[in-house]
Parts: sequence; structure tokens; C-alpha cells
Amino acid sequence: MRHDDPRPPLSCSRLLLEIRDLNLDFGTPRGRVHALRNVSLDVPAGQVVGIVGESGSGKSTLAYTVMGLLPENADVTSGSILFEGRNLLKMPAPARRSLLGDRVSMIFQDPMTALNPVRTIASQMIDIQHHEQGSRSEKRAHALDMLHRAGIPDPQIRIGAYPHHFSGGMRQRVCIAMALLVKPALLVADEPTTALDATLEVQIIHLLKELQKEIGCSVLFVSHHLGAVAELCDRVAVMYAGEVVEQGPVRDIFHNPAHPYTRALLECDPGRIKKSTRTLPTIPGEVPSLLGSKEGCIFHSRCSQAFNRCMHDNPVEYRIGMDQVARCHVLDKQRLVSA
Ligand code: ATP
Ligand code: SF4
Ligand code: MG
Repeated sequence: MRHDDPRPPLSCSRLLLEIRDLNLDFGTPRGRVHALRNVSLDVPAGQVVGIVGESGSGKSTLAYTVMGLLPENADVTSGSILFEGRNLLKMPAPARRSLLGDRVSMIFQDPMTALNPVRTIASQMIDIQHHEQGSRSEKRAHALDMLHRAGIPDPQIRIGAYPHHFSGGMRQRVCIAMALLVKPALLVADEPTTALDATLEVQIIHLLKELQKEIGCSVLFVSHHLGAVAELCDRVAVMYAGEVVEQGPVRDIFHNPAHPYTRALLECDPGRIKKSTRTLPTIPGEVPSLLGSKEGCIFHSRCSQAFNRCMHDNPVEYRIGMDQVARCHVLDKQRLVSA
């Protein structure tokens, strides 16, 4: 079916975050890097949305744009980011700052990014509740409860420690506890498990899932680990060279990928390779340079299904089923054949 509507139906869920036609460039001495191109993405309330894609596809740029934490050379050239119906890109800076740490929290790949190395966990966890009513001792009790729920052993003692007293996995637990302490409506997590070993990654994913359900927040979860996305997420957006090429429910995308890039990404996933092999498969070819304007489909130089039209026209979104959309001319061809 041709995707003519602005967005696919999302099983009647209320949308917490609606990103529409977002374009972002980075100014560099070599020219403008088009890091986000016409990105549209929905995050329904209470759901976990994964963002996957190869390195350099724009996952972190998208996450940081939502958070309003972009470097100085970034320039949002068009589009909107509606959070609870308000456009974050048009919001005055003080209003946006008060939203951060109150309605929206973030966890990073490196927990030290979020933690102050010279202050105890207690003082940082009390300060982060500055919007909340209550005495210091009530806030400390709240922090202790959260540390306990995040699986920190002996929280009564550990709350007085400094970040460097914790191991990497425990530090990430502290960051999750801190980020969720204010019960945000949205948690943005950029590769929160990438620096951890496989066992710790599983533990952190389970913890995130448990706390997300308990708090009822939405999560935007950036990861290159498809297994973690399958485990944690309700929906997934696949990014390639600054574009969201496919998005929809995790189950549909992982079982019935419609975009050739999604299929290639899944075929190269170490978790899905059945036969033992010495070398992991990779997608042939290279990610195109993001400098300058592009003609045709962004994936055409690496796509085994490319045909003439792919060189000239950038595909629009086509709907597959109820909630899944993908940008590929083959879907238009199939529509014409079945019509
Ligand atoms: P990874 O999986 O490696 O974390 P990513 O998908 O998060 O990759 P981004 O970090 O968002 O990718 O980068 C997207 C593109 O924007 C890349 O080409 C990157 O080189 C470029 N980029 C990111 N930050 C800047 C910057 N500050 N200035 C110029 N270019 C940048
Ligand atoms: Fe491949 Fe063409 Fe589809 Fe792009 S539009 S993914 S080049 S078949
Ligand atoms: Mg990144």
C-alpha cells in the first residue's frame, strides 16, 4: 500500500514524541555534513523505541537533537520535534532546560559523562530532584530506594561513595537510577550497554525493561546490538546515512524486513548467524559521504536490488501492514503489480 498519509496508524497509542521531516547539518571545513535527512519518527507513550544502524548513520545525532545537546557547528535546517504536543525546537532555552532532567532524562554510553567525579552519589542524586517538593532527607530516602531497585548492593553505604568507587556495570546502574529518579516521561539512552561485557549487558537490559514498565516512561534506545533491541524494544527505526529507511514494531521488522538495508543488517548480525564462521559477514561497499546533496536512494550504491529509478528518485515511505513503513521503490513496484 502506498503511504500517502502523514504517518502510519500506531495501534491507537498516544504519541509522546513526534519527529517530523527533521534535517540537520554539521558545518565542517570540508563543507556541510547532512547528518539527518527528512527524519520522521514516532515514540508512543509507554513504549521503547530502538534506533539501529551502522556507525555514522546519525543515531547519536538524532538522540542529542531530541535532548537539545548539540555541538555549536550543528544546524537544524528544518523539521519539528513535538514532545507532549510542544515543539522542542521552538521552545525558549529556559523552558527547554527545565524539561531536561524533569520530563526528559538521558543515559550515556560512558556513565562518567553524567556523573560528577568529585561529588558523592548521594549529593548528586539529591540535587537532581531539585524540581521536587520534600526535605533533603526525604530526597535521600527516595535516592536510596531507587539505588536499591537498580540493583546496587548495600545502598545505605554505597550512596556515600564517589563514582570512581564503582565498577563500570555498577556505575551504569547508578546512572539509570539517577535518570529514572525524577520519573521522566521520556528516557533517551545512547548505547548504554556498549561499553559493558555481554553478561552485564543482559543485566542492564533487564533492569531497564523492569524499571521502564514500573515507571511507565517511553524510552528512545540507541544501539548497534540488534539482540538488545529485540529484547527491550517495542518498536525500531533503522537508520542509514542520516535517513530512517524503515520503522515499525520490532517483531514485524525483525521477522519481515521490507528494506534491503534492514535485511542486510540482520543478515550480518552475529546473533543470527547459525553456521560457525571465522569471519563475520559485512554489508559490501561503504556508507556514502554525507557531504553535498544526494540524488536517488541513499542506499543505491550498496543495494543488490537497485534499478534505474533508484539512481534518480529518493523513495517516499510505503506502508507495509498496519504499522511498518519503509523507503524503497521496490515496495512501489510490488504495489503496482498487485494493483
Ligand atoms: P556510532 O554508531 O559510531 O555512534 P552514529 O550512528 O551515532 O554512529 P553520529 O555520531 O550521529 O552517528 O554521526 C552521524 C554523522 O555525523 C557522521 O558522519 C559523523 O561523522 C557526523 N558528525 C557527528 N558529529 C559531528 C560534528 N560535531 N561535526 C561534524 N560532523 C559530525
Ligand atoms: Fe535498493 Fe532501490 Fe530500494 Fe534503494 S530504492 S533500497 S536502491 S531497491
Ligand atoms: Mg553514536
